[in-house]
Amino acid sequence: MSGNDAFNRSSRTLRSPPPEGRPAMEAVQGTPVAVAPAEAPDVVSTTEIQKWISEIEKRLSEICNIANDGKLNSEQKLRINTLSKSVLGGISQMAVQYQAVKQNLLLSQAKVNTLSLQNNLSTQLHELKQCMQAKVTTEEKQSFADMVRTGKSSAVVPTKSNSSIVIYPADKEKSSEDTKTLIQNLIKPETLKLHVRGMRKTKNGGVIISTDRKDDLEKLKASQQLQQSGLKVEDTTKRRPKIIILGVPTNMSEKEVFDCIFEQNVADLQPNLTRDIFMSSVKLSHKSGKKDLSTCNYILECTAEVRRMLIQQQRIFINWTSCPVRDFTLLTRCYLCHLYGHSAKYCKDTEPTCGHCGSSGHSFKECPKRAEPAKCATCLRFKKPSNHKTGDDQCPVKKNAQIRYLDSIDYEGA
Ligand SMILES: [Zn+2]
Ligand SMILES: [Zn+2]
Ligand SMILES: [Zn+2]
Repeated sequence: MSGNDAFNRSSRTLRSPPPEGRPAMEAVQGTPVAVAPAEAPDVVSTTEIQKWISEIEKRLSEICNIANDGKLNSEQKLRINTLSKSVLGGISQMAVQYQAVKQNLLLSQAKVNTLSLQNNLSTQLHELKQCMQAKVTTEEKQSFADMVRTGKSSAVVPTKSNSSIVIYPADKEKSSEDTKTLIQNLIKPETLKLHVRGMRKTKNGGVIISTDRKDDLEKLKASQQLQQSGLKVEDTTKRRPKIIILGVPTNMSEKEVFDCIFEQNVADLQPNLTRDIFMSSVKLSHKSGKKDLSTCNYILECTAEVRRMLIQQQRIFINWTSCPVRDFTLLTRCYLCHLYGHSAKYCKDTEPTCGHCGSSGHSFKECPKRAEPAKCATCLRFKKPSNHKTGDDQCPVKKNAQIRYLDSIDYEGA
């Protein structure tokens, strides 16, 4: 307010015109009170405030000029000058404080935005987690057998429940091929209206016949031709299912592990299942995993009932830990001949078959054709299209072996 040093007339209370409905400030006896724009929906720009201040300054100088021209005594003039200066000082202070408030508001708004963004993200993550958990749960609940039966992991969809019988020759010298020919000469599937799913050879010259329906087997068993032929018809005995328990501490003895499985997971849940019955229902098939680790996997052979109970729990408690439980449906593939269902220990071949090119007489390591695309040794043996890797999930022989394997397992129980 430079240049206004003369004062006249009576002092007046200054009421600054609040621009565009902004809250008013009042200067009362040189003590300016700033009223914060508490419910202001938007912020005032700095230029607007500067305009406002210079507007007030203009009016204050006018007051000082009027005072100067009037017949005020010097004391009154001084008073007006002081009051004007104090008003302007207060307004400047208020502007500074307003800027600070404005800055805080902007910061808070940014924080609120970030928080709501984070909140949205966390909600989405939570939903995603739930979705994944639900998916994992359904997949865990679905055994591999179910997956194959529903065709989820296989293009070959086996039919409903599997039923089969095994037929042995009366003469033990006969081969499975002889037995098969004999059966085919004796039985006419069209007469018995059979739905034969497949025939396959067994040891001891036997043939296993699988049908779609259990009734078909009854028809076969009742067949006069078969009864009079001397062939022996037997029900196939199914293998017990296997389950795998992952991450079992290696420092525990097998007995301790079995005790824990029973006491911590079975005893309370199935009071009818006594310790003796349980122990006779489970058998350790083998362990897997690297030797030097603190945990390993237990592969157990168990009854359908025990399998169901443990698989349903998804995790079982063993001592101070909990271990996931899954169906164990890993197919054995012989690394010598690459056929499914036996290990190299029981292989009849004398020389290895190459897993890369499928030729016999050399192993994978010695293969001269390693630069060429891999061929399926198993399919090559059966003279099937073999332009896929040995052991590929899409390999038709592997798929068939998987189905046969699953069919041979008693998942239902008595
Ligand atoms: Zn083999
Ligand atoms: Zn080779
Ligand atoms: Zn294949």
